[in-house]
Amino acid sequence: MVLRLSTLFLRTLREDPADAEVPSHRLLVRAGYIRRAAPGIYTWLPLGLRVLRNVERVVREEMDAAGFQELLFPALLPREPYERTGRWTEYGPNLFRLQDRKGGDYLLGPTHEEMFTLTVKDLYSSYKDLPLSIYQIQTKYRDEARPRAGILRGREFLMKDSYSFDVDDAGLQRSYDAHRAAYVRVFDRLGIEYLVVAAMSGAMGGSASEEFLAPAVNGEDTYVRCTSCDYAANVEAVRVPAPATVPWDDAPAAHVEQTPDTPTIASLVELLNEKHPRADRPWTAGDTLKNVVVVVRHPDGRREPLVIGLPGDREVDAKRLEAQVEPAAIEAFTEEDFAANPLLVKGYIGPQALGEQSPTKLRYLVDPRVADGTTWVTGANGPGRHVIDLVAGRDFTADGTIEAAEVRAGDACPIDGAPLETARGIEVGHIFQLGRKYAEALGLKVLDENGKQVTVTMGSYGIGVSRAVAAIAESCHDEAGLVWPRSIAPADVHVVAAHGKDEAVFAVADQVAAELEAAGISVLLDDRRKVPPGVKFKDAELIGVPTMVVVGKGLADGTVEVKDRASGERTDVPVTEVVAHLRAVVRG
Ligand code: ATP
Ligand code: MG
Repeated sequence: MVLRLSTLFLRTLREDPADAEVPSHRLLVRAGYIRRAAPGIYTWLPLGLRVLRNVERVVREEMDAAGFQELLFPALLPREPYERTGRWTEYGPNLFRLQDRKGGDYLLGPTHEEMFTLTVKDLYSSYKDLPLSIYQIQTKYRDEARPRAGILRGREFLMKDSYSFDVDDAGLQRSYDAHRAAYVRVFDRLGIEYLVVAAMSGAMGGSASEEFLAPAVNGEDTYVRCTSCDYAANVEAVRVPAPATVPWDDAPAAHVEQTPDTPTIASLVELLNEKHPRADRPWTAGDTLKNVVVVVRHPDGRREPLVIGLPGDREVDAKRLEAQVEPAAIEAFTEEDFAANPLLVKGYIGPQALGEQSPTKLRYLVDPRVADGTTWVTGANGPGRHVIDLVAGRDFTADGTIEAAEVRAGDACPIDGAPLETARGIEVGHIFQLGRKYAEALGLKVLDENGKQVTVTMGSYGIGVSRAVAAIAESCHDEAGLVWPRSIAPADVHVVAAHGKDEAVFAVADQVAAELEAAGISVLLDDRRKVPPGVKFKDAELIGVPTMVVVGKGLADGTVEVKDRASGERTDVPVTEVVAHLRAVVRG
């Protein structure tokens, strides 16, 4: 059916919506694809719904082709299974919880590991039933702290989630590989630029995990890529190579010095160079050990102070830190917290007062660079005092290491030591070897070949279907509007009847549109009578259908103009050949 702009439920906007920070949000609203209903909650208008359905179709076709079976769980779920896995609590404020009329607790599903696990347990009992991969394409709910950038981070969004079930690790690896291959086909078909990066497996205790990221300046994920080998990872998952232990036999003894008014690293370095210069080179921020105090808030509400020791030239990266403590969250260490811990001297905190065995009993974790034998200048736990030549392993021992320091371009690749480069991306997919966590919590076991009960091992695999629409828009646009890849565009061809008063123009446009549709080419037809051609062209560019056909002036010579949205290239084509011409264009 030809979509006619004269009747289509659509209003394009000239002005950018006030709350739109990124191009995809701005353009999807202006071009009439989506409309905000509430923060992080959007309505799909007809054009938007067509794009969403196209993405969904590609995803579904590839899942089906891989032999995964589709089913559909409810979005409204009972509390009990989530209670059994701990996620009713762990999900914290991100979970939409509600009650029914009898006071029973329910939630709106943020992801469905529990329901899939229980249903497989319900129906299957033997190794002969496995492997199994099942999936759904469903609306998910998460009360995100920062719903952002339109449908890029929604509180209601469409996700494809699959789960695999196997009896052993080798089976899980095969299921994981099958999903990875299907994801590669999906994202190739969607015409999206992407890369696969190593990801955090989080607190779930799983092993392998990878993300599919679409490179984008406005992406919320930062990833690194080695400039020499094929290592790529989300910064959250980057492991800092720990230096080898340095022998400290010849190292001078640590000595405390008066360093008045040096609560910051910069002021300390300046004073060191003035009052305690080094023989070999000037002091730098990287010679100092900075101790950052935060509070870990556990899902049960418990607040636990944590001190992180890291080289003074690096900041703590909030996302890396959060990924390490998940499902707990990080909060600021407040003035009241300082008051409750009088042994901590703000600005002069040193490792001698830290650690679970120390008088403060505060948990102390250090960056892997703070390896045994490394020498530091750090706080001496008294106002205006620092200690120089303090050796890790000799003068203090931390409770462990933590990967929370920022990762910078130029840092060494953990595989081959070459410099890393950093960039930003949008997470459009995530594949994850869950292992036995959910099967254990929910008692999913099957009989193996020897008649023994074994716990099933699982994988979980997600694609952000609605987010993919935004991610594609984020990379496929120019100043004039959207430029959809053909695989997901709302139509193949946008036919514009230019020259408003000429009836022949409308008649030919109509006829071309009908013939194209008959040839299996989907058409958006601008048949609006009172809209000037200039406005129609602007709208066509904004909407971003890959090919435009202008029926106008050329008609006098029996031609129409075919214009490529992406390249702007124009070709005059005789009306009689337009269907054959476009068939070739559309089929690529
Ligand atoms: P993020 O780190 O961006 O919050 P996530 O790691 O929590 O995402 P998963 O649980 O891995 O997300 O969900 C699978 C996929 O669902 C993600 O890869 C992403 O594409 C999509 N997704 C997750 N949260 C949202 C959201 N709030 N809005 C839109 N899509 C989302
Ligand atoms: Mg993820």
